[in-house]
Amino acid sequence: MLLRQTNSDFDVFIIGAGPAGTAAAISLREIIPDIRVCIADGGKTAAFRIGESVPPPIQPFLDQLGVMSAFAQAEHSPSFRTLNAWGSARLESNEFLLHVHQTGWRLNRAHFDAMLKTEAMRRGAIFVPARVTALTGNAHDWRIECSNAEKFSTRYIVDASGGAAIAARKLKFTPRKLDRLIACAVFFAGRARQSSTIDANAPLIEACQHGWWYTAAIPDNKRVVMLMTDTDIARRLGIARMPTWLRHLSLTDHIQACTGMASPLTQPLVFPASSRYFADIYPFGIVPAGDAVSRFDPLSSQGIVKALRSALYASYAIADHHLKGDTMGFFKYFTLMRDEFEHYATTWQTYYRQEQRWPDAPFWQRRHGMKPS
Ligand SMILES: Cc1cc2nc3c(=O)[nH]c(=O)nc-3n(C[C@H](O)[C@H](O)[C@H](O)COP(=O)(O)OP(=O)(O)OC[C@H]3O[C@@H](n4cnc5c(N)ncnc54)[C@H](O)[C@@H]3O)c2cc1C
Repeated sequence: MLLRQTNSDFDVFIIGAGPAGTAAAISLREIIPDIRVCIADGGKTAAFRIGESVPPPIQPFLDQLGVMSAFAQAEHSPSFRTLNAWGSARLESNEFLLHVHQTGWRLNRAHFDAMLKTEAMRRGAIFVPARVTALTGNAHDWRIECSNAEKFSTRYIVDASGGAAIAARKLKFTPRKLDRLIACAVFFAGRARQSSTIDANAPLIEACQHGWWYTAAIPDNKRVVMLMTDTDIARRLGIARMPTWLRHLSLTDHIQACTGMASPLTQPLVFPASSRYFADIYPFGIVPAGDAVSRFDPLSSQGIVKALRSALYASYAIADHHLKGDTMGFFKYFTLMRDEFEHYATTWQTYYRQEQRWPDAPFWQRRHGMKPS
């Protein structure tokens, strides 16, 4: 079977140049050097990108992609622990020393994403600076339309469009959602007040009545501080307004101590963060990866590692079909994504059940299974 003979513009068209999209492009070009890969992304580079804490298990994925030396050249800050006040007001430390790979990272997220994109293009992926607006067709003959009016044909599509999950939306799939979590984040300039007892740069989580707070020092002498809560609770409290946000910050023990004298650079910025998964069956040739297939709670700090992992597995499935006509890779991939989310959902609930200090608060009741989300 001459699977590789085709008249399409590209073999693989990747929607989105976040970690999942660029990692898929790098891996595909490493496995099959002559495979024709295109990545389209029309997103503007946001001044403040969210998602910066990565745990030590990121290292094998960076090694596998062959980008470890490019990663080491950027100014990411090493991280040796996370701190959390969860289940009690006492701050506990989770030391990375006990991990096989002992160092996690607080990323300069814009640099990290740009590095992966550069590496993908260096390996021969073509970049189209436009948003995908339409996709039509069927197995082996997909048509893509972009916001700059360009049209492309392709054999495979990787949907790596993150929360937009454009393929799932165009196909009218309904996600399985665990919650309605959002982040209200404020970026600060300046370092934390240093303390002799805690590592004030480490990612820190503190549970509160309406959800939980997170802060971490990030490169360029900045700090991100965010309250994670549910959409309706945020609206009811008016948490997206700076004075209200600051008043709630002042009720925390550890987060406000860490934030110290840093001064706000932004108003509260709202990001969707609900845990969700698209369980429907995709048409042949469309493979979602990263947040487009499933989104995990930022509590897990797994989003970027999961994006790289799913992108690698998606690229293996496509390569198996492209080279050998083997469809088993797709079956294994979707089974893995489903099992991964099921496992995650159990862990997610177990973890939220460890916090029992606010039994009457809707945020916690929902996660303890006492009230529907
Ligand atoms: C508040 C918050 C905090 C987080 N903190 C962490 C953390 O500390 N650690 C961690 O590991 N993860 C964290 N995450 C999750 C992490 O950011 C994501 O899991 C990760 O970015 C997923 O990568 P991705 O490539 O799948 O999607 P994204 O990084 O979202 O990239 C998707 C890309 O697709 C593009 N795109 C969208 N629509 C289209 C279209 N129509 N056409 C073309 N391109 C399109 C976008 O412009 C974007 O560049 C956090 C998430 C949130 C919301």
